[in-house]
Amino acid sequence: MIDGQTQLVGVMGWPIAHSLSPAMHNAAFDALGMNWCYIPLPVHPTQVAAAIAGLRALGFRGCNVTVPHKEAVIPYIDRLPPHVARFGAANTLVLHHDERGQCMISGENTDVQGFVHALEQSSVDPRGRRVLVVGAGGAARGVIYGLCQAGAASVVVLNRTPERAGALIADLQAQACDTALRADALTAHGLERYADEAELMINATTVGMWPRADASVWPDDRPLPRHLVVCDLVYRPLETRLLQQARAVGAVPIDGLGMLIGQGALSFQMWTGIWPPEAVMRAACELALAGRRENGQGTQEGGN
Ligand code: NAP
Repeated sequence: MIDGQTQLVGVMGWPIAHSLSPAMHNAAFDALGMNWCYIPLPVHPTQVAAAIAGLRALGFRGCNVTVPHKEAVIPYIDRLPPHVARFGAANTLVLHHDERGQCMISGENTDVQGFVHALEQSSVDPRGRRVLVVGAGGAARGVIYGLCQAGAASVVVLNRTPERAGALIADLQAQACDTALRADALTAHGLERYADEAELMINATTVGMWPRADASVWPDDRPLPRHLVVCDLVYRPLETRLLQQARAVGAVPIDGLGMLIGQGALSFQMWTGIWPPEAVMRAACELALAGRRENGQGTQEGGN
């Protein structure tokens, strides 16, 4: 029940109606008996500064930031750790209020660690692994950054627009990442060749996302190598065509909810000091996804 003691957190994005984060966080607050509430905040791109001033003025304890505001919030953060400044995008704001009405905001990016946490939850340690990432957008950037931090041996990035993959790799190389990085064009032949050499393959494209749920980055006429761990960042649908292909050959599938829950759990801990029950968060997401399937609403935007 919301009352005068309720602590507020939320997520700002545009659009935001698709977000699973309110269901996920509020389920965790309920399970822990905490008087906190997480609300969706639709913030037009012209209103980012005003929205952050609003969070300060209204006593919010924290806020997630999603597409398209992750870069735009950076100038309004008072305390930014060097790794987040280098990455150039934040998805978590923590607001520290004092008794004089002053508010200091610190920023983090839990997408990066959230992805590594999701791998670890599936007993996959990326250290020393050869990784193939398909896609070079915002999600791929976070994933590859996390893989570099976690000590992956090598990452090959394949993208439909190869220049974008090249730019991403150049940016990471400039940050003295020890992982061997390589970019190439996404072709059926290249995909097959690099997948044979990899141990972990990650789909960081929008391919396979509802309503085009029958699509996969992997061609149907070739079997996936069965030695692979296959991770799909798409979670609408949860069991993507790519994960079905992985399961069919006995490869290990990891769905996109793992990263969503990982980044959410890390944000939750930053705001409350408590690690949330991840199983409760997953059940809430699965319930929300099932409800949307029934209503024919299957869109998925990036991250939270
Ligand atoms: P984005 O910045 O728009 O990037 C989209 C990527 O998909 C680009 O690499 C794009 O290639 C590629 N792509 C799009 N259509 C394609 C096609 N028909 N064939 C081949 N490649 C295609 O999006 P994003 O933010 O990185 O998100 C990517 C996916 O990750 C989305 O499904 C998003 O929902 C998901 N995601 C999940 C989580 C999670 O927590 N599980 C977090 C963040 C994002 P080009 O560069 O050639 O256009």
